[in-house]
Amino acid sequence: LASEFEIIRRYFDRPARSALLGVGDDAALLVPAVGMELVATTDLLSEGIHFRSGADPRKLGHKALAVNLSDIAAMGATPRWALLAIALPAADERWIAQFAEGMFALAARHDTELVGGDTTRGPASGPITICMTVLGEVPAGLALLRGGARPGDDIWVSGELGGAALALARPGIAAAAMRLDEPEPRVALGERLRGLASAAIDVSDGFAQDLGHILERSGVGALVHYDRLPRFPIDDPELERRCVLSGGDDYELLFTASQGARGEIEALPAEIGLALARVGSIQPGDPKVVVLDAQGRPIRVAPGFDHFAP
Ligand SMILES: [Mg+2]
Repeated sequence: LASEFEIIRRYFDRPARSALLGVGDDAALLVPAVGMELVATTDLLSEGIHFRSGADPRKLGHKALAVNLSDIAAMGATPRWALLAIALPAADERWIAQFAEGMFALAARHDTELVGGDTTRGPASGPITICMTVLGEVPAGLALLRGGARPGDDIWVSGELGGAALALARPGIAAAAMRLDEPEPRVALGERLRGLASAAIDVSDGFAQDLGHILERSGVGALVHYDRLPRFPIDDPELERRCVLSGGDDYELLFTASQGARGEIEALPAEIGLALARVGSIQPGDPKVVVLDAQGRPIRVAPGFDHFAP
């Protein structure tokens, strides 16, 4: 069995161009660009809870980084550096090699460098646990927060909703599985929304619940038209509503913007190659999401993902 040090060197020790000092010392040395604020986020993936046992390690490497890049995108920031900690029941070199391959392939596409981390042996039959941290930069004062939505603002969402939840409800649909296992973080969109969006969040726990987070922070309500929501094709209307409104793991960006920004936002899809849909409007009043069907009748929304639900 390879030692921890050999594993780190072989698979994770790559020269960092953007850090003063990357992997290999006690800690990394990083210099943010002048005028930028540092944005930090971290996410824990646990075997049996966030991914099934025997999951493809290459896809796990992708997803562990993707969910963090998605949070960076939701802040309107540019990702720069990543740190990774993994607890493995055994030093399985093939698993680590494939995990690293998936992670570095996505990192390269977003100019994000691994600058530190830790691998450790967990309990013999224990779960694989992956903790990833990503640091990004945003021009001072321009980060996209949850608290800036105002009555009259439009509500927008990128891409398509419901695919990841469909993959969990009905395994075996390749396009849906791809949405669940290999989400594409909307980094280019987040960067373009600086100074344009009034509030933003990424859809990780379900559209209605994540919109609810914006409403609570902003002290406003929302009216959403179901038929305007961009939906992954699902043939069962009941299942579709559940996946689209309450399914998690889509990692699309959900944001609000003033009506005056409409023209600029409508021009973005052609520029960045990602569909954007205007799905409703921010209302004065209680932080409540009202979803109307095509006939204008309210739709009951099932609760979204709750990490502590039994
Ligand atoms: Mg988030």
